[in-house]
Amino acid sequence: MFGKKTIEDVEVKGKKVLVRVDFNVPLANGEVTDDRRIRLALKTVNYLVENGARIILMSHLGRPKGKVVEELKMDPVARRLSELLGKPVKKLDDCVGEEVKGAVNEMKEGDVILLENLRFHPEEKANDDGFASQLASLGELYVNDAFSVSHRAHASVVGITKYLPAVAGFSLKEEVEHLSKVKESPEHPFVVILGGAKVSDKIGVIKGLEDKADRFLVGGGMAYTFLKAKGFEIGRSLCEEDKLELAAGIMNDISKRGKDFVLPVDVVVVKEFEDKGSKRVVDVDDIPSEYMGVDIGARSVGLFREKLEGAKTVLWNGPVGVFEIDEYAEGTKGVAEAIAGLQDCFSVAGGGDTAAAIKKFGLENGFSFISSGGGASLEFFGERELPGIAALLDRE
Ligand code: ADP
Ligand code: MG
Repeated sequence: MFGKKTIEDVEVKGKKVLVRVDFNVPLANGEVTDDRRIRLALKTVNYLVENGARIILMSHLGRPKGKVVEELKMDPVARRLSELLGKPVKKLDDCVGEEVKGAVNEMKEGDVILLENLRFHPEEKANDDGFASQLASLGELYVNDAFSVSHRAHASVVGITKYLPAVAGFSLKEEVEHLSKVKESPEHPFVVILGGAKVSDKIGVIKGLEDKADRFLVGGGMAYTFLKAKGFEIGRSLCEEDKLELAAGIMNDISKRGKDFVLPVDVVVVKEFEDKGSKRVVDVDDIPSEYMGVDIGARSVGLFREKLEGAKTVLWNGPVGVFEIDEYAEGTKGVAEAIAGLQDCFSVAGGGDTAAAIKKFGLENGFSFISSGGGASLEFFGERELPGIAALLDRE
């Protein structure tokens, strides 16, 4: 169960409620090109509107590096949000200061304001206490509805909770509930599929789940460090030399627990990323020295499919190949299809690129839940509680 207070547990009527959302959306020519992140916040915003709160939304957008960047102003976001809500959303020119305060004080019940990009101020990322207190001074209640930034100890995520009662919004709660089901009470067999570029990114997930999962299937760039640790020649494939020992240790730990650690048996290799014509499929004990692995082969997809059979819980994090290039996307597509085809299975995907891959193959409906989390969902499965969630009020 979700152990934190939510907006439903507190009085919001008439209150100035500061809501941290993640409106870090892609823009092109001053328009929002993908509004999914904005839609995620609608349930919370609508609830607050209906319950007579004064709603002050705040978010970061892009990487302005602590300075005002014209193209990263929140105006297009406010326009799109206004369309989605069917009511005006006033965008302010800053996120702190006297003018902002003045505008907030004029708000009526049900009004919605969007503050300017938090990261125009370097103090946001620095979790500066003075900045956090300035933000907090705008409201009477703080709501975190941005799971995807909850692994960051920033002023609008963590610092601010020192000054205001802090509760969760609906989308944060929903994320945590879905991911907790996998982390705390998975139905077995529980299969974890990992990929992506680097072992170092996924160590936390492996450590956090090695007691809970029954089986690990590993592909992607990270597989080559494991293959090398097992003594295979991996040519010019991605390898973290300084993680070889760790990789061997992980495989040892997992097999000592009587669990399966499954690596690809064949891989797609090329001479250069760009040299698609040089593509070949080879067994993992036959990788030529001048080639590099960019995808898992069809036999590996078959093996992974077999190992997924009967799974009741699946967590997938990290593409098993360079899926951005169509010629190297078959393995990732095959894995995505295998998961989507499972019956009676709670399947969760985490990680920004994994979500992008699922979208690319049009398989979103085949998953029980796709985390909006990116880095936050990865860290969620690690051993540390996310600081932005830890900082919220506990339920009694
Ligand atoms: P996520 O965002 O889902 O957590 P990661 O960021 O860890 O995933 O990894 C995604 C990246 O890993 C993709 O950009 C993909 O191209 C890359 N990748 C996958 N397989 C390989 C490989 N064999 N060699 C190099 N990069 C790879
Ligand atoms: Mg990524």
